[in-house]
Amino acid sequence: YNIKMGDFDSRCEIGRGQFGVVSKVFHRPTKVIMALKEIRLQLDELQLNQILMELNVLHEASSPYIVDFYGAFFIESCVYYCMEYMECGSLDNMFHVGCPEDVLARIAYSMVSGLKFLKDKFNIIHRDVKPTNVLVNSSGEIKLCDFGVSGKLNASLAKTRVGCENYMAPERIKSGASDQGYTVQSDIWSLGISLVEMTTGKYPYPLNGRPTTSVFLIMQDIINGPAPSVDTENYSEECRDFISRCLEKDPNDRPSYAQLLEHPYLVRYQNTHVDMTGWAQNALRSSPSSS
Ligand code: ADP
Repeated sequence: YNIKMGDFDSRCEIGRGQFGVVSKVFHRPTKVIMALKEIRLQLDELQLNQILMELNVLHEASSPYIVDFYGAFFIESCVYYCMEYMECGSLDNMFHVGCPEDVLARIAYSMVSGLKFLKDKFNIIHRDVKPTNVLVNSSGEIKLCDFGVSGKLNASLAKTRVGCENYMAPERIKSGASDQGYTVQSDIWSLGISLVEMTTGKYPYPLNGRPTTSVFLIMQDIINGPAPSVDTENYSEECRDFISRCLEKDPNDRPSYAQLLEHPYLVRYQNTHVDMTGWAQNALRSSPSSS
């Protein structure tokens, strides 16, 4: 079935990204509530068709750790991407204070499983792991979105990507962020940075008092400074070890996804009840946009 703009009812804006608006929509033919993401690009029809072809692989990407893809189309120079609606939005909205250690373990488990699934099944490297690209639904499920499935789309977006919160691994910054030689090890670094951020609610490289033009200084810190770490008071030794393994400065020292899944920190909380639904419901209730 080919999804098209005329199928949708009752649009309301739920988020705004760098390339356009994300809306909550009702898809009449299937009666499913979806999230519709608009991506504004300066491309011709041939290039837009190439993106749609590449995105279509996602119809086979069914995993509990990946946001479901329903289809994509373009109108003029906008690509519209339809996906599963995730009621709680992205992880960056959920932590203004530290994330409890048990919830963080479940989040880490889901992120690693999602990344491993993309790599094993589709040979996809995410390339943009960060809290805004991890979504949460009202059952407390954690799923990845915005991964680099379309080479053409990656290339078009990379040209305009800005922002001072940098999740890029030191080896990528050193290589001039070129796409060549990008491996899963660099995604594992970004996972580590995201987890440190969730323990405090703040991006771990200090931006305090620096002008936003000092993106350069942050990149220097990432390359030359010690990796960020987690405070010892609220997080166990196992948790801190897991995160510091992701943040080995040398990519070859970082564990594989399979090794991460066997880490005692993740194993402990997979074998313990963690009330993810309660946590998500609570976040929904306290969110300023809930109605
Ligand atoms: P960016 O370009 O910064 O990655 P996006 O355009 O992907 O941001 O998304 C903007 C915001 O829209 C997100 O931070 C999130 O809160 C919301 N959002 C994106 N996708 C969904 C979805 N599938 N369900 C619910 N909310 C979403």
